[in-house]
Amino acid sequence: MAQTRTGALVMIPLAEAQERVLAGCGILDEVTLAVGDARGLVTTETVVAPELVPPFDNTAMDGFAVRSADVVDAPVTLNIAGTIAAGVPPDITVGAGQAVRIMTGAVIPPGADAVVMVELTETSPDGEEVTVAQSVPAGNHIRGAGEDLTVGQTVFGPGEVLTPGHLGVLTSLGMYQVKVRPKARVGVMSTGDELVEGPQPLEMGQIRDSNRHTLLALLAEAGCEPVDLGSMADDEAGIAAGIRAGVEKCDALLTSGGVSMGDYDYVKKVLEEIGDMSWMQVAIKPAKPLAFGLVEGIPVFGLPGNPVSSMVSFELFARPGLRKMMGHSPDTWHRQRVTGRVAQRLRRRPDGKTHFARVRVEYADGEFLVRSAGGQGSHQLSAMAAADALAVLPDGVGLDEGEPVSLLVLR
Ligand code: AMP
Ligand code: MG
Repeated sequence: MAQTRTGALVMIPLAEAQERVLAGCGILDEVTLAVGDARGLVTTETVVAPELVPPFDNTAMDGFAVRSADVVDAPVTLNIAGTIAAGVPPDITVGAGQAVRIMTGAVIPPGADAVVMVELTETSPDGEEVTVAQSVPAGNHIRGAGEDLTVGQTVFGPGEVLTPGHLGVLTSLGMYQVKVRPKARVGVMSTGDELVEGPQPLEMGQIRDSNRHTLLALLAEAGCEPVDLGSMADDEAGIAAGIRAGVEKCDALLTSGGVSMGDYDYVKKVLEEIGDMSWMQVAIKPAKPLAFGLVEGIPVFGLPGNPVSSMVSFELFARPGLRKMMGHSPDTWHRQRVTGRVAQRLRRRPDGKTHFARVRVEYADGEFLVRSAGGQGSHQLSAMAAADALAVLPDGVGLDEGEPVSLLVLR
């Protein structure tokens, strides 16, 4: 039986388990997408500016285009030769003693070398003349062609995570498609005879399936495309069929439940049979058991069933693996680590494992103050929901008030 064999397994350190998982997560092939579909994705191309931004010299202010030499002895009065709005080619040349009314973004007309903002001018009642109150230097309020980007300039390069700003830059250059690593399509399947869905009263022994909803949301938050594969009974053939169907249409799969030492823990058994699987006992709490393997080359994360464990396991294994698949750089695979200070003792018992305590973090007087977010049982999802971070408690009796504590930031 699997449990006697695996029962003899020793716990492996977290870093080693993470390495095994990451080694099984291959980077997805690049695709070309419309910029509207590319937010948050990692680009695979070097973007080189094919044109100038801005494309022409234009005014940063509403006001008057003038010759700076004409306004050296301001106040001076100039003749208004016309008006130039944004979006049209200038049809006026500014001659000596002349000014042209000009709107923000409009092309600087020939002859002019400066703009006086409207606040520093007064137009005569007949609209024929303008008095400029102050002298302005050449170039005043003129935004030069190419001041943002010049032709041939490298704008950003492979590996960049496309933010709204990057998408704006692309479109400012007339580029509406971009090469990226795609979102990973990730299937989520719950397992357990006890699971039900819906608001109906529970029968004795039943619980509501929460993991699937948590994991689907975690995937969306991680920039993946979640695929709901429903819930499976504790039935070997059914779970095998579900996993086979899942890997057909997904880049990765998450299952929850069925990976520990119970009689009906079929997920690890199935993965052992149909996949190239490694089942691990990781020296952490929560989330000690993890089944991870490749089925038809697709990574399958057999996460533990306890609600907090499945979330912590997602954070420590699935999220980093999926980020790797989507082309993110290694230094961003894991959640950000910061150091906080224990504001209220965080107890634990020595057991050879690293504990990840669900904590609230408050920023005060230049430091992160850390307190328990509530009950620390792996079934107590409400404390996980309330947590801002996972506090890393090394093996031992915990951390006392005032001690530094390493935090994995969840939000
Ligand atoms: P297992 O890993 O299958 O032994 O499950 C461990 C614990 O997690 C049991 O108490 C299960 O009832 C619970 N559990 C498993 N799957 C889910 C789920 N999808 N939603 C909520 N609780 C679950
Ligand atoms: Mg189960």
